[in-house]
Amino acid sequence: MTQNPNSPVWHPFTQHGLGDSIPLISHAKDSKLYDAEGNGWIDAISSWWVTTHGHSHPRIMAAIRAQTEKLDQLIFAGWTHEPAESLAAELVRITPDPLTRVFFSDSGSTSVEVALKMALGYWYNIGEPRSHILVLEHSYHGDTIGTMSVGERGVYNRAWQPLLFDVGTIPFPHDGQEQATLDALEAACRQKPAAFIVEPLILGAGGMLIYPAWLLAEMRSICARHGVLFIADEVMTGWGRTGTRFACDQAGVIPDIVCLSKGLTGGAIPLAVTLCIEPIFQAHFSDDRGRAFYHSSSYTANPIACAAAVANLEIWRDEPVQQRIDALADAQAAHLAMLSHDPRVTNPRRLGTIAALDIAVPDAGYLSTLTPRLTAFYRDKGVLLRPLGNSVYVMPPYCITPAELAQVWDSIAASIERV
Ligand SMILES: *Cc1c(COP(=O)(O)O)cnc(C)c1O
Repeated sequence: MTQNPNSPVWHPFTQHGLGDSIPLISHAKDSKLYDAEGNGWIDAISSWWVTTHGHSHPRIMAAIRAQTEKLDQLIFAGWTHEPAESLAAELVRITPDPLTRVFFSDSGSTSVEVALKMALGYWYNIGEPRSHILVLEHSYHGDTIGTMSVGERGVYNRAWQPLLFDVGTIPFPHDGQEQATLDALEAACRQKPAAFIVEPLILGAGGMLIYPAWLLAEMRSICARHGVLFIADEVMTGWGRTGTRFACDQAGVIPDIVCLSKGLTGGAIPLAVTLCIEPIFQAHFSDDRGRAFYHSSSYTANPIACAAAVANLEIWRDEPVQQRIDALADAQAAHLAMLSHDPRVTNPRRLGTIAALDIAVPDAGYLSTLTPRLTAFYRDKGVLLRPLGNSVYVMPPYCITPAELAQVWDSIAASIERV
């Protein structure tokens, strides 16, 4: 089944002028998406990096159903509810001790906006106003004006560049160029910026670019030495993607601010949190209303979404999630190894459950048509993959079966033959 051509829906990151048909999905279970006629697709990118345990996980669905019987929505300014309280307490428990406060929002982008606002609010309230933000080259932090400002500039945000604020860009630590990154960060930190924001260990939308844990730790200690707030955007990397629950865990890094969203509810329903260290909260804590943290959205800490997140944390506690992640990581490594010696494949790379490779392309003109052709090719083979340029990556839910994963990689192998 496909979308009615007269549909009024305007899709994100979709060029409607190309006339591609859009599948109409009616239900999903585990790693599979289905239309009403029973056609199935393997969701090899976890519905854009959100679905961790699998679609329609029974415990998350049950938690949502149960919460709908109790409390649907509640103003969160000056009021509270049990699912938010349990979730916040549990998040503080499973993250490093210095992270003591949890601020709720609804998407990865808003969790990053909140992080930036917290950082500037901190400096403002302690009487040492700072507003300059440092970012890593090729980063992606969301699509709002603020998060585009701290992300890579390019074709995706050309029209809005006049509105984007200036940031300090630290060069990406390509293999062998790590010292240049550290030196640039050190120099930039001397200028007293407010904060440095990073995607820990892997830059997602920037093309699945991986850098080593020791470098993340080094960057963190440079910021600590200079008193620059360190923001970890774990919106994509969180909840097991990189092999550990959070990417920062692998580097022994404790950030000042952490953004979490995508897998927070297991990918079932939108929710985000920004965790921070106590001094940031204390800078806003006062009997002066003017120092309050002025940020909210209508659905902040929606009870149904919080209940789903509580269920996600129970799954992490009660089910062998880490074993599934380890097994998936091994399987991904094995599949990637089979393709990595192909002369048409460059830059094979993997971090935890995420595997990626680049397909060698003759020129940029060819590249511009390659991505949509690949996407359509995979779709016809029953696989949802969405390459970033010529980078094909596989980021499946942890419940994907060996046979399904083999089908995904077979379709990638076939696509390389085809191009
Ligand atoms: C997806 C993503 C975001 C934005 O999250 P949304 O929920 O799409 O707003 C922010 N940062 C990173 C690293 C992401 O991958």
